[in-house]
Amino acid sequence: MPETRSLLLLPGDGIGPEVMAEVRRVIDWLGRRRGLDFVIGDGLVGGAAIDAHGEPLTDATMKQALAADAVLLGAVGGPKWDDLPFERKPERGLLRLRKEMALFANLRPAMVFPALVGASTLKPEVVAGLDILIVRELTGGVYFGEPKGIETLPDGSRRGVNTQVYTTEEIRRVARVAFELAGRRRGQVCSVDKANVMESGVLWREEVQRLRDQAFPEVNLTHMYADNCAMQLVRNPSQFDVIVTDNLFGDILSDEAAMLTGSLGMLPSASLGAVDPSSGRRRALYEPVHGSAPDIAGKGLANPLAMLLSFAMCLRYSFALTAEADLLEVAVASVLDGGLRTADIMEEGKARVSTRVMGEAVTAALAKLT
Ligand code: NAD
Repeated sequence: MPETRSLLLLPGDGIGPEVMAEVRRVIDWLGRRRGLDFVIGDGLVGGAAIDAHGEPLTDATMKQALAADAVLLGAVGGPKWDDLPFERKPERGLLRLRKEMALFANLRPAMVFPALVGASTLKPEVVAGLDILIVRELTGGVYFGEPKGIETLPDGSRRGVNTQVYTTEEIRRVARVAFELAGRRRGQVCSVDKANVMESGVLWREEVQRLRDQAFPEVNLTHMYADNCAMQLVRNPSQFDVIVTDNLFGDILSDEAAMLTGSLGMLPSASLGAVDPSSGRRRALYEPVHGSAPDIAGKGLANPLAMLLSFAMCLRYSFALTAEADLLEVAVASVLDGGLRTADIMEEGKARVSTRVMGEAVTAALAKLT
């Protein structure tokens, strides 16, 4: 446990600053009412950093991110910067953060709040009580494997190549994260691969099983092929607790699982790196799944709950503040139960509120619950 808790806030572009303001409200409340002080740093990322400094992430901000216990990010990007060359685009700031912080495990929970059960495209009885955590390997696999490229063959036709490659260590470190998290949840891990047709999948399956047998005998581990998992996620999603999978399958399955919950404005995420042996600290970045939503930016329409739930993940995983993380999640659920809705999750008979009013309601619920 770090003695001081340092947080770097990078609101970014579009609705990023609006949703981050609601996190600050909760941070202030935790300081005032629970005696939890955070050392807060601020920085620019994405288009905001391009406008101010000519680049999407400065070295100074990168240094701050590496020194912080956790980084909270709003969102980056927008039409203003769409025509910039790829190397200078806002997204490069986020990619640099992920790369230099070596964030190899991406955590995407898919939870259905009782009040929003009707927002899913699936039947309420299929998604009610849903609580899945997908752990996706983020820095290896086919998106990074070599050789890759497009080549012209002697007959003039072309050939595109990507390489799916994983090492024992890459598999074990992400599997370890999944097993540790399962230990704090319902103790089940489903490892997803294509071991029936891919050698890298055979290795994945063997290494995940070996680590479980060596170090996590209490975890109930099952294996599933990725195509079956895609089907099971819509057929009977409640069978899953933690799913661990590679970069490519995780990319697809985490979006599929997210949509079971029905709304982009409700989805948090975390990306974790290795534990530093001397400090015991794990590098971590928390961000909502949604983008900068330029179509609604500056209008007070953004749903701040994905950002607030990302902060709840930060309390849980970076600071082991389990009680406060639970409290924040319960506060969000109670505000939804009370009928408040931002425009994106609006239903008939509910009260439509702005970003700020939603954030204030969550803080009021925190106070009421304690
Ligand atoms: P988006 O997630 O920004 O928006 C998609 C749709 O969902 C929009 O209609 C938007 O209004 C709505 N929406 C998103 N978040 C919402 C919220 N919190 N509350 C209410 N409604 C919300 O995706 P997009 O439109 O494809 O991309 C817009 C910009 O964001 C692009 O520049 C893109 O590159 C960038 N982007 C950034 C990230 C990131 O920073 N991690 C992720 C995705 C997209």
